[in-house]
Amino acid sequence: MRTSNSRAAGSGVASPAALMEITVRPEPVMVRGEGSWLFDDAGRRYLDFVQGWAVNSLGHAPAVIRDALAVQSSRLLSPSPAFHNAPQLALATELTRHCALDRVFFCSSGAEANEGAIKLARKWGRVNRGGACEIVTTHGAFHGRTLATMAASGKAGWDDLFPPVVPGFRKVPFGDVDAVDAAITADTVAVLVEPIQGEAGVVVPPPGYLRDLRALTSRRGVLLLLDEIQTGMGRTGPLFAHQAEDVRPDVMTLGKGIGGGVPLAALLAREDVCCFAPGDQGGTFNGNPLMTAVGLAVTRTIADEAFRERAARVAARLSEGLESLSRRTGCLGVRGAGFLLALRLPRPVAGDIARACFDAGLVVNAPRPELLRFMPALTVRADEVDAMLALLEPIVAEAVASREA
Ligand code: PLP
Repeated sequence: MRTSNSRAAGSGVASPAALMEITVRPEPVMVRGEGSWLFDDAGRRYLDFVQGWAVNSLGHAPAVIRDALAVQSSRLLSPSPAFHNAPQLALATELTRHCALDRVFFCSSGAEANEGAIKLARKWGRVNRGGACEIVTTHGAFHGRTLATMAASGKAGWDDLFPPVVPGFRKVPFGDVDAVDAAITADTVAVLVEPIQGEAGVVVPPPGYLRDLRALTSRRGVLLLLDEIQTGMGRTGPLFAHQAEDVRPDVMTLGKGIGGGVPLAALLAREDVCCFAPGDQGGTFNGNPLMTAVGLAVTRTIADEAFRERAARVAARLSEGLESLSRRTGCLGVRGAGFLLALRLPRPVAGDIARACFDAGLVVNAPRPELLRFMPALTVRADEVDAMLALLEPIVAEAVASREA
């Protein structure tokens, strides 16, 4: 795969040299998308099983988003967050109708939603728990790239990146309720977890984890905060992943799929936890009607049970297809739920496979050296799943065998 970070600067041609270098990108410039397909500036097409990192929940450029943008962009872009706007009110109502939480704050990124959750929990601790402010989080967690959400995350190496680290987070192993119990002290205000750890490599906790955490946090008088930025909006099957265990969190954050490709995220909380006073929380783009109009269209689509039943059938086909590919190629099986799935490789060749797939016209993600992740649009078709598996299998087989030799 050719990469473009070394393209010459100053040539006058639009150049990546004018960008801050934050990642290594392949050379092609993406110009168009349609459903499960992404097209580059040379007219090559790619079957996209990453979809902007689980962002394009309805695929590339769906009509429902195009229409919502067209209508809202000709009506009202930004009245200012100091005024109500109709799409924000409608989306807040729609979201609270579908979960057991009562109020919403809209923002632009998952990290911003989690920052809001951390602030809300700290305020709640000041008001209700004698100034307690510590939040228990988990090793391997990913909660964002602001300073506080990096501190809340459990990514190896992050504590040394931008010192000093924001204090107030205590890490325990993911999936271990007893470790959470042992970590809670009089200083603790909340426990923050992802229902399934996404960036850590689709790590699924033991059954009953969220239910047991709910019971524990209620018994110990601290809040349960769920980061559903990756797992929410139908990604794992139900509209929100915690609904599979029938638990009610105190706070939930959403991002990625709620905007279907536009920057939208949300912080939701139970009524009695909503202790922000005017001035505590805000942001220029919060509740922006252009984004919330899209969020409303996306949420109405995904909240429809028939839509999610169809998605579940195709997700089962993907999971079964990956399982049998795994058996045939000597891989170690599949984990995850719904359309958040990972193929476990017997050796660290995920990066090689993802690069070879890209060259073959397939986008998959390698969050760990021994793991491939699949996050297609919820609208992906069965024949596209079959086409993806057919492209993937020989590449996996060769990568696994070549390192064996
Ligand atoms: N939380 C989880 C679980 C995520 O997966 C991510 C992004 O991958 C974030 C938070 C951060 O979201 P954003 O990149 O929109 O800030």
